[in-house]
Amino acid sequence: MFGSHKDRLTPEAMATPVLRTFSYHYHQKFGHGVGKIPLDLGQPCPNRLHGGCIFCRPAGFTPAYLRGMGDITEQLAEGKRHLLKGRFKKYFAYLQQETCTAVPVERLLPILQLLLADIDCVGLILSTRPDCVADALLRPLADLVRKSGKECLFELGLQTVHERSLKLLNRNHGFADFHNAALRIQAAGCFQLGAHLIFGIPKESEEDMLFSLKTVCAMGITHLKLHHLQVLRDTALATLYETGKVHLFTKEGYLQFLLRALPIIPAGVTIHRLWATSHPELLLAPRWNCLAATLSTLLQQRMVVQGIWQGQAACPVL
Ligand code: SF4
Repeated sequence: MFGSHKDRLTPEAMATPVLRTFSYHYHQKFGHGVGKIPLDLGQPCPNRLHGGCIFCRPAGFTPAYLRGMGDITEQLAEGKRHLLKGRFKKYFAYLQQETCTAVPVERLLPILQLLLADIDCVGLILSTRPDCVADALLRPLADLVRKSGKECLFELGLQTVHERSLKLLNRNHGFADFHNAALRIQAAGCFQLGAHLIFGIPKESEEDMLFSLKTVCAMGITHLKLHHLQVLRDTALATLYETGKVHLFTKEGYLQFLLRALPIIPAGVTIHRLWATSHPELLLAPRWNCLAATLSTLLQQRMVVQGIWQGQAACPVL
């Protein structure tokens, strides 16, 4: 069974991953590599009207090949040309830019229908805010998803369950919004639910961060996107950082923290990412000068050596 070997150093155990990564999970499910094609609907996030989250700047999210591109079919063709030429045979349409569900339902649904109809597309990943998940979208989208037989993951940006931190980040939503959206997404019966958390928010202790993680896991989420806090240039967080009031994880500190956090995550939860990887031109701090693939190898080697695996100390879902 996944992650349950007693002796992690035998060759058999070494061949079994200690983490359910996105690539492992979908390779197991489809028998080949599945990637993500980011798409931009061109709709600004509603939170920008309220100043935006202090860590966020639009350019920080946008892959180079998307900048300045218009029509969704053109973006998709370009994305497929980039992605489906190597180990990836299929893809998820990843609506990651800004807040995709802020697009009016009458405009959004035909786009999602078009994406689901593509033979190479295995599903949708809708990255959004918890206060932008309307029933008016969920009901017709559930019909489309059921008919397609494909996956649809709602990746809800939460960052933290602590209200004081949500305020500090200028999220302009509370934990109750996440809870409410999560229940409605789960009740539809055909969607996957994911949470996005940031570790290292100013004034949060490691116990606070672990509490956020335990809380979303106990709610039965099936996917997680996690990363350490990064400070991007020209953001409100950068201004705060320059006052010396923001203490960021060191590479070693973050690896040590992950060794505490990962056993809490149920073995069935798919982990999409564990680090932020902002472009070096945008990144102010922390500058670890280390590739994500190197971090991942280092982390998994330590997990094996220390006998740690995802799900080892998971709490039951409530
Ligand atoms: S909700 Fe997302 S897109 Fe909108 S400002 Fe915050 S991080 Fe940026």
